Amino acid sequence: MRLVWFRNDLRTGDHSALYSACSNNRGEGVLAVAAITPEQWLLQDESKSRVQFWLANLKSLQEQLNTLNIPLKLIYAASNDELPDKLLELIRQFNVSELHYNREYPEYEQVRDKKVWRCLKHNGVSCYHYDCDVVLPPGSVLNQKGEPYKVFTPFSRAWRNHYLQQVPEALPVPKKQPTLAIKSDQIPETIPYQQKGVDWQQHLWPAGEEQATSRLLKFVAKKFPEYKEQRDLPGISGTSSLSPYLSVGVISTRQCLQAINSYSQDPDWFGSQWVTELIWREFHRHLLVLFPEMNRWQPFKPEVEEKISWQYREELFEAWCKGETGFAIVDAGMKQLNTTGWMHNRVRMITASFLTKLLRHDWRLGARYFMQNLIDGDFASNLGGWQWSASVGADAAPYFRIFNPMRQAERFDTDGQYTSIWVPELTGLNAVKQHDPLISQEKGRPNPVIDYAVAREMSISSFNNG
Ligand SMILES: Cc1cc2nc3c(=O)[nH]c(=O)nc-3n(C[C@H](O)[C@H](O)[C@H](O)COP(=O)(O)OP(=O)(O)OC[C@H]3O[C@@H](n4cnc5c(N)ncnc54)[C@H](O)[C@@H]3O)c2cc1C
Repeated sequence: MRLVWFRNDLRTGDHSALYSACSNNRGEGVLAVAAITPEQWLLQDESKSRVQFWLANLKSLQEQLNTLNIPLKLIYAASNDELPDKLLELIRQFNVSELHYNREYPEYEQVRDKKVWRCLKHNGVSCYHYDCDVVLPPGSVLNQKGEPYKVFTPFSRAWRNHYLQQVPEALPVPKKQPTLAIKSDQIPETIPYQQKGVDWQQHLWPAGEEQATSRLLKFVAKKFPEYKEQRDLPGISGTSSLSPYLSVGVISTRQCLQAINSYSQDPDWFGSQWVTELIWREFHRHLLVLFPEMNRWQPFKPEVEEKISWQYREELFEAWCKGETGFAIVDAGMKQLNTTGWMHNRVRMITASFLTKLLRHDWRLGARYFMQNLIDGDFASNLGGWQWSASVGADAAPYFRIFNPMRQAERFDTDGQYTSIWVPELTGLNAVKQHDPLISQEKGRPNPVIDYAVAREMSISSFNNG
């Protein structure tokens, strides 16, 4: 019998490991497994909402697998260290001869998989892995010298060229398998999990492949044509909000590309800004594998970080986390995160820049806080986003490029629409008024925790003297 191990790839469509295990399997039948590892998740800063969302999607996956006659078993392990033995136990119990899984790229997961691979090989079980979380596997997009790209634009150009040479297609859902006399395990609704933070907001991100696909198709039909113009405006819902689904793998990037190819009216869909954003996701994954020290929280550009002197002031960090900095757009973003588990990309950049450049707090603190609270928490993209914002990442802007939160709000939330949702005391005011200290005071808002001009000056001079 063949075993498929599901991790952050909770889908039946375009699933290389599942598809391969179900093909030409000589009528042996296919079994599925997933591991519940709460201590490991906590160690890796997984948010509560993401864990709940993952469980709900696992349940939905189980229903799909049932229709294919593939029972889903669960393994409970505190941490990754216990997985090789627990998998082996299951493999022996059901006389499994092959394990199939899709690769994950962060180092924790790579180490886990190597240990499992070694243990199973040693015990006569064959292992097969696939690159299905990305369209083009890390290491396959290199420059002419055969080296990794360190800058995004040439990477994206090369990525597009490689793609066009192969046009990788999404795989279909596999055929029904022979029935097995094995009962699926019951997926728990919840598990005890220590992480603080907001619960999964089911009404915002309902679970399941069907939900993800319908969101993708609605995006392609309605928002894709205006994406480039609207993606930076947090007050309107101009982006796909597919990130939670991509993060737990309910939908794949190949499926996203296939959908715009098939359903958008745009002949240049492949050159579109949305595809560029999907390539950013791939870029961050490639960097993690090709520059492994990034997994250990090292900056991509240590020479820049050497010049920065981070400070830590608990009251400032707390104010940032709670959305009480007195800067309306920053506070709105943090409140959106704390209330829903998600934040608009433009506001992620504003809040991250504020913490690292104006409050001069280490990007690692912000990155961990985001991971602990985001429903779409993704080690590679989060690390990339934070390092970029702190100017220590690949392709990052120079350190002295500091976002002015007031200017950002005026440009991207001119009417104050977004900020009003999360800081309702400022409703009815435009961005300029929302950031006026006197009006803020009248409305009972917190005093600004810093003077923007002074903080900017200090940040730049400390960097130049660093
Ligand atoms: C400081 C910071 C932290 C971030 N942390 C995460 C994270 O933990 N998880 C995460 O998925 N994204 C992260 N991002 C990237 C981005 O903010 C989100 O992917 C995006 O806001 C998700 O919204 P959407 O699904 O509507 O995206 P859309 O605009 O519709 O884009 C489609 C998809 O492309 C990918 N994508 C878009 N922008 C980026 C980007 N800049 N980098 C990598 N992938 C991208 C996402 O998978 C997204 O779902 C972070 C960005 C910053 C600046």
